[in-house]
Amino acid sequence: MVDDEATQATNDDASECKRHAVNLGYWTDPFINFFVRQTIRKPPEINRGYYARVKGTEYFIERFLKLSDGKGQIINLGAGFDTLYWRLKDARKSPQNFVELDFPSVTAKKCYHIKKHKQLIDRLNTEDGEIKFSTTDLHAADYHLIGTDLRHISELSNKLTQAEVDFNSPTLFLSECVLVYIDSNATSFLIKWLAQKFPNSLFVNYEQVNMRDKFGQVMLSNLRCRGCLLAGVEDCESLETQQRRFTINGWEGSSSWTMVEIYDSLPESERKRIERIEMLDERELLTQLLQHYCIAIAWNGPMFKNISIAQG
Ligand code: SAM
Repeated sequence: MVDDEATQATNDDASECKRHAVNLGYWTDPFINFFVRQTIRKPPEINRGYYARVKGTEYFIERFLKLSDGKGQIINLGAGFDTLYWRLKDARKSPQNFVELDFPSVTAKKCYHIKKHKQLIDRLNTEDGEIKFSTTDLHAADYHLIGTDLRHISELSNKLTQAEVDFNSPTLFLSECVLVYIDSNATSFLIKWLAQKFPNSLFVNYEQVNMRDKFGQVMLSNLRCRGCLLAGVEDCESLETQQRRFTINGWEGSSSWTMVEIYDSLPESERKRIERIEMLDERELLTQLLQHYCIAIAWNGPMFKNISIAQG
């Protein structure tokens, strides 16, 4: 059983790692520093892993935005301190509605940081200049931050209605290192409910994979993310089970790739640029790390059928 407090703390770990990689120049994020003050110094293979995670998910987000022609909505499940809303806003690529969900203790902290920083609050769209705040929730015209437990579907349903979600609009669900912290029955229930409610949708899931050795034992090496270790997560699946989790729970189709494939599909010039930031003596270390993470996508409706990675 994963402890909720430890799960919430995994957000601090992810945010600090992202801030460290951003400060080294792996990718640009002018907003992460408003949410997290600390950085943790990480070895180059971890920074490159975060780079692949951010750029890999961005690739599918871009595809979604293009296919839905700016008329869709993004729902980030277990968003933590993710800055995607603000990055899309600056790039003038915002969808019509953007919803972030996490435990109330995490969204309360995010609300606090948004209120505190003009650079964040000024970018929220308002229809009549009004932004509604509670301690844990925030509602602007095209951005909704909501405290809820993803295991409680009736509350989730009410909260999505409050966030003015249109169940028939093209919808992108993002979950980056989140489902692994929710027990498998509750994850199945959530995935199934989303499939039933959103007939025109794409799900992009980043998480651990292939963590068992040939004897079926969970690997306890330093390859596992610190967040995973903190929360005591043991249950890591194969690419096939990642896809099956969607298709047996009502999604029309699913594909998945290890992060080795995702990394190799990123533009070569960019890979060369980030590989010059820090020396990595043993390339094998990076490959081993990337083999243990994946992106799985699933779709409902014809709009997002058979999306694939670029040929690197
Ligand atoms: N997605 C963000 C990122 O990649 O930077 C945060 C990742 S962090 C490793 C996992 C997040 O999932 C945490 O913020 C945690 O609170 C959230 N989470 C896990 N289980 C949840 C649940 N049952 N309900 C709501 N949020 C949950």
